[in-house]
Amino acid sequence: MRELLFFEPTIKNYIWGNEYWTVSAHPHGDNPVKKGSFQGITLSRLWDEHRELFGNMEGDRFPLLVKEIDSRDDLSIQVHPDDAYAREHENGSFGKTECWYVIDCKPGGTIIVGHKAKTRDELKEMIREGRWQELLNEFPVKKGDFFQIEPGTVHAIKHDTVIMEIQQNSDITYRLYDYDRVKDGKPRPLHIEKSIDVITVPHRQAEACQGDDPHRLVDCPFYTVDKYEIDDSRRFLQKRAFEIVSVIGGKGEIDGEPIAKGDSLLIPYAYGEYEVTGQIGILITGV
Ligand code: ZN
Repeated sequence: MRELLFFEPTIKNYIWGNEYWTVSAHPHGDNPVKKGSFQGITLSRLWDEHRELFGNMEGDRFPLLVKEIDSRDDLSIQVHPDDAYAREHENGSFGKTECWYVIDCKPGGTIIVGHKAKTRDELKEMIREGRWQELLNEFPVKKGDFFQIEPGTVHAIKHDTVIMEIQQNSDITYRLYDYDRVKDGKPRPLHIEKSIDVITVPHRQAEACQGDDPHRLVDCPFYTVDKYEIDDSRRFLQKRAFEIVSVIGGKGEIDGEPIAKGDSLLIPYAYGEYEVTGQIGILITGV
């Protein structure tokens, strides 16, 4: 179909900042199409009733979720389960493999990915004793960094960081530590037991993408993500079940439709060629 699909975003306000779910069919934020033939129809309904838009791909729900995260404060230290654990313990939910492209961050900013415990007993002990600094892998982050976060990876985005996150369509997060913060007099719930269940010990760093395509940032069983910096214009061919284009910097147009930093849109099956123009950085996610 020759029609780009733009959605009304779902905006989530948290104690630490905001999330903008730009391509989402999740029940916690099921985005309606903004304009065109499918205006007002949610992505989950498109998936159920117009599977041809997704190349008749199999599956009981749309597989991905794309969001922009803008943190004023530190996010909780967290971990996500994989599909097998989530299916069993979270009512058949998907697990959550996710990746981050850092759109912006303050100089001196840091991020947490992974931990230093060598055994599960050591992990439990460090958690019980609150030895967070010793336990967690915290390191400097800068604009343009990219991280693949496998299920079982302890992680946290710190304050003043803007990222584009591409993930499985899941909202299952186990909160390991929340800096002892309180909201309305109460701390947010923690999920220590489930976290200990799913954390990979010792930590295993996701492998950098191999292969000869210099644009490819990641290739995992759930998605591929490619990055392009465009100065003038570039043509692409949509030949997968669907693709998602996300703007990570600058602004421009896609087939004449204006797009700017933070936006994401879906290119349906059999759309064919499309052209991106402007001074613009994009990620192209495929399945
Ligand atoms: Zn996460």
